[in-house]
Amino acid sequence: MSELVIEGLHVRVGSQEILRGVDLRVGSGEVHAVMGPNGSGKSTLSHVIAGRPGYEVTAGTVRLDGKDLLGMPAWERAHAGLFLALQYPIEVPGVTLVDALSVAFSAMGRDPAEVPALVAAEARRVGFDESFLSRALNVDLSGGERKRCEIVQMGAIRPRIAVLDEIDSGLDVDALRAVAHRVGELSVDPGVGVLAITHYNRLLSELPVSTVHVLSAGRVVASGGPELALELEGTGYVAYEEQAAQP
Ligand code: ADP
Ligand code: MG
Repeated sequence: MSELVIEGLHVRVGSQEILRGVDLRVGSGEVHAVMGPNGSGKSTLSHVIAGRPGYEVTAGTVRLDGKDLLGMPAWERAHAGLFLALQYPIEVPGVTLVDALSVAFSAMGRDPAEVPALVAAEARRVGFDESFLSRALNVDLSGGERKRCEIVQMGAIRPRIAVLDEIDSGLDVDALRAVAHRVGELSVDPGVGVLAITHYNRLLSELPVSTVHVLSAGRVVASGGPELALELEGTGYVAYEEQAAQP
């Protein structure tokens, strides 16, 4: 049983406070959605959890199974069991998916010889063309292919906790279904705890979530069951924006 615990997180970029006190808990096998309008701080949250430079944490903690993630370099966070799928996966010229995962497997004490068969099986599950496996990571891939590629990695690594930033953006309906289905399966077996950050409700029509959080102007202003996402579909974020504007 693992748990990602975010408490009182305040984050600044330059002189601007982007996250203004975020509290979230995600346990093994749970699927949480963080929804919010553009600019509410969703990607900032994923970048800070990932350890991307340029973000100043002024208060609060992010812990995985009691270990302080914020004090760790990015690779150590991965070693602790965290997986991050970024909104814009980066291109890595000269390094294939199999190369990258082989290094990760060695670092985790797993046998890199398992990687080729594992990624081939994961690729088939989400309809990721196997010819991409031997090409440079994310180079010349479409947005949708990059997202499938992220889920292939998640399936091979089987992290404790996965933070997925806009995993649904740029996917057509079939790809969305395949990706959401695989994420849902991984939440059941091996019981990955998932924090799915999304702008749109449509991910939630394919991925069963236990909890929905609304992020607005850097704060979680509402949390509830899946019905909250349906409510947002009708009302939009406006009501929550007024709430978040309070000092
Ligand atoms: P979301 O993912 O919810 O759309 P972001 O976290 O990307 O929101 O951005 C939240 C706010 O922080 C925006 O106003 C954005 O302009 C600002 N911001 C994010 N990253 C940076 C950065 N590196 N430099 C300056 N401003 C940033
Ligand atoms: Mg974003």
